[in-house]
Amino acid sequence: MHVQALRWHGRGDLRLEEIAEPGEPPAGYAVVEVAFCGICGTDLHEITHGPNMIRTGKHPLSGQAPPVTMGHEMSGRVVALGGERAGVEIGTRVAVDPCLTCDECRWCLHGDYHICAKGGSVGLASDGGFARYATVPLRGLHPVPDGVSDEMAALAEPLAVGLHAASRAGVGPGDTVLVLGAGPIGIAAILGARMSGAGAVYVSEPVTARHAAAVAAGATEVFDPTTADVRRTVFLRTGRIGPDVAIDATGRPDAVDLGLRSLRRGGRMAVAGITEAALSVDVRQLVLYERSLCGSLGYNFDIPRVLALMADGRLDASCLLTGVRPLSEGPAVVHELTGRTHDHLKVLLTPEKA
Ligand SMILES: [Zn+2]
Ligand SMILES: [Zn+2]
Repeated sequence: MHVQALRWHGRGDLRLEEIAEPGEPPAGYAVVEVAFCGICGTDLHEITHGPNMIRTGKHPLSGQAPPVTMGHEMSGRVVALGGERAGVEIGTRVAVDPCLTCDECRWCLHGDYHICAKGGSVGLASDGGFARYATVPLRGLHPVPDGVSDEMAALAEPLAVGLHAASRAGVGPGDTVLVLGAGPIGIAAILGARMSGAGAVYVSEPVTARHAAAVAAGATEVFDPTTADVRRTVFLRTGRIGPDVAIDATGRPDAVDLGLRSLRRGGRMAVAGITEAALSVDVRQLVLYERSLCGSLGYNFDIPRVLALMADGRLDASCLLTGVRPLSEGPAVVHELTGRTHDHLKVLLTPEKA
């Protein structure tokens, strides 16, 4: 049997093609019948500018070299198990943590599996969820609670990115937060800050079409940095103190700089956005105000926390979802999302059912 898959062959070379159905999963893996799989900025970046996260040779953990089926933000149903995992049986609905890990490096042993020295991700280092089936690590299976739809479960991965950024930045109850950027990661960061108990959440986003989604995600106020003095305004809104926390979801040096200068004395900033651009920091902005600056990559152990918050109604992520399309339209959707003019945040692809 052959199934449709959306595969990365090289920069600018994404193909919808037929591949063999996966066989029995190896020990420690499971096969999931994909319900929905989200298109990530990382996927678009690999297609337009890659390889970046994708390795051109064999990945040390998966042994796979491109072409590779993309897609790492998936929900689905377990159809084959290569081992046991508590709470998971054939037929269990799951959200997938796609991290591939060596389980023996210094970081894996300390629980920081997301920064494993050899680490990679299903959908980049091995075949992923833009297909009817995906073979994924058994340990990455998280049962989806009743009442959480397969569509929402597919959003758990990108939402975990936002929750992880909020925890890296140390958002605590009542903290005032400034989020730079309201694209998919920014929206996830706003929701992550809210999940972490933030007080006011201010957002800086130049594209006004994105402001409504930021408010729906829980932003207190959204500013256009091209017309508003964001630092000054947030300073005044916070009683002439500045936000406790800033989270960058752009990777743009000007946004990181704005976030850093806006922070209160002793404030903390996490950078979750990424570009190739070099960042130049006025060292005085860090030292003289004793601010902290750190990076935030992906998530670790955050996906089940997101699912739990969805299940008890404390997290409504519907504002992040702007489209669901059949997998067969994948190339056209990718083309649309890499263009300059679209209003999408997260688009899910769904494979044809048998
Ligand atoms: Zn992603
Ligand atoms: Zn490791």
